[in-house]
Order: sequence, then structure tokens, then C-alpha cells
Amino acid sequence: MSAFLELTNVKTHFPVERGVIFKKRVGVVKAVDGVNLSLRQGEILGLVGESGCGKSTLGRTILQLIPASEGTVVLAGKNLSALKGRPLRAARSDFQMIFQDPYATLNPRMTVYDTLAEAIRTHKTITESAMPEAVSRLMQKVGLAPRFIKKYPHEFSGGQRQRIAIARALAVEPKLIVADEPVSALDVSIQAQIINLLYKLSRELGLTLIFISHDLSVVKHISDRIAVMYLGRIVELGEAAEVFERPLHPYTKALVSAVHLPDPVKERARQRIILPGDPPSPMNPPSGCTFHPRCPYAIDACKGAAPQFDSLDGGKHSATCIRLKELNPA
Ligand code: SF4
Repeated sequence: MSAFLELTNVKTHFPVERGVIFKKRVGVVKAVDGVNLSLRQGEILGLVGESGCGKSTLGRTILQLIPASEGTVVLAGKNLSALKGRPLRAARSDFQMIFQDPYATLNPRMTVYDTLAEAIRTHKTITESAMPEAVSRLMQKVGLAPRFIKKYPHEFSGGQRQRIAIARALAVEPKLIVADEPVSALDVSIQAQIINLLYKLSRELGLTLIFISHDLSVVKHISDRIAVMYLGRIVELGEAAEVFERPLHPYTKALVSAVHLPDPVKERARQRIILPGDPPSPMNPPSGCTFHPRCPYAIDACKGAAPQFDSLDGGKHSATCIRLKELNPA
């Protein structure tokens, strides 16, 4: 069965220029550097990595908010990378983005009704008399009481505003949603509610969801699979429980070691792996395995060719490390 969303060798590079009048290219930032990924319909993928690893750029590239420098993004058989102008605008209802700060994306002068009605109108023809009912249904779907229909964004809490943003995304009945750090600006008590809502909607509507977060613990319970990004590339991909219980890549091991454990006994025994230094600049990435300057297991061979995905279980859970089998004995 072919994938619902297929990324093939996706690269997003940004030229770096100097000079005011005579601009001169002095380098290239390789924000996303050769990502291959397949998602099935209705799948929830957690995309994690440190800030600056390229996960948000990848999300925006998938949704054609930033054009890919190379490679293709195919959604439900349609090559989105080849679309421009009107065909791209027409395809946009198939995919939506939810941002970290809903307040910045909601018009402060528009009520919930106006915001959602505007989104519904862009997608389908509906009479104005039927609109209040359609808006109320949408609000109920995201857990907002229809009595708030005439309220403005500033009258809501952060969690409620994120619910409005989710409702607006759902108004066009998308097939794919990319949620970029959708809970990181919210109180911890509210985070779980929004995560549960996204999970429920994905399962009920068969929505494919890419949930981007810098925090592995946030994506742990919602994701079917987790992809770990480092310096523009995916370094580990596997089922969520597998990635948590048996991380393969030394970088993922460090991320997992930073996650607090609910069991106090296990939490006391947890040994955090502290990586030396900061991630290198994506303008000048290290040779070979780009993680080698920070990897506690690096050997000279790691500086050679970039490692390809390798697996211990026939490909379901894989990572890019030339010492994969040696570092993860059966
Ligand atoms: Fe570490 Fe080498 Fe594996 Fe990269 S390839 S993760 S540097 S051991």
C-alpha cells in the first residue's frame, strides 16, 4: 500500500548573503538536509529534536509555506512540491498548520463566530442562515461551549485560544495537520487537555497529524511513531514505545534520559546523559555523522560518509549510526 504522505529527499536550504547593494552569497544554511519519510493515513508522528534542528522548517516545507530546495512532498498521491499559484491555493484545504501561539494567529477584532465562519466559507458553499449551526458544531468538536460564539480572542484563556485555532484548522476538513509546538506556550495542566483533544480528533476523523515538539515527553503518549531530528536530518525513527524503551541512536538516548519518570523509584535511578557543547551550525555541519563532535561513542570512521539508516528489527525501528549493532547488543 502506498504511503499517504511521502517525503523523498526533502532539502530546505537558505542562502546566506552579505552586503547591502552588492549582495554576495557567503554560505548556505542547511535547515533540512535530505529527509525521507512515509506516513500512513490517520497516523500521528511525533517530530522531536532540540531547538534549531530543522523540525519547524520541515513542517513548513511539508505544508508548502517554505518551498523545498530539493525533493518531493506527495500527499494522497498529489505532488505538492510541483504546485504553485492557484492549484497550490486550491490544495491548501487538504493541509493545515497549528502554531505555538494561537493569539498571534487569531485576528483580535474578530469574534469566534467570524473567525470560524470565514474559514468555513473558504472551503464550502453554505448559506448564512446555516452558518451559526455549522460554527457551533465546530466549537463543540473542540470542546468549546457555543455560548462563547460572540467572544473575542482576548476573552479566552491560552488553552481555549488553542482550541479556536484547532477549530479553524478543522473548518476546511483537512487530511493533514502539522502542529508546531502547539502546547509549549500553555500551562502544564492545560497541555494534557490539548494533547488529548488532538489525539481524539485524529482518531475520530482519520486525520494524519505531525506533532512537532522539542520535548520528548510531550509527544510520548500521543504518537504512533516518533522521528528524532538532529541538524536537519532524521537520525531515528520508530514506534513511540520502542523509541522510549530502547532508543538506538546516542542522541536519542540523551533526549530520553532527560525525560522525568512518573515512578519515583525509577526517577531516582534515572541517569541523565549530558551532551557536551551545542549543536553545530547548520551552515557548516560536521562531516560524516553530524553528531560526531558531541557523541560519546564517536570513532574516526564516524567522520567519513554520512551513516545510512540501520535497524535491529528488519526496519521498523531504525537509526543512522555506524555502530548501531555494537552499541545496542541484543
Ligand atoms: Fe556516534 Fe558515530 Fe554513531 Fe554518529 S555514527 S552516533 S558519531 S557512534
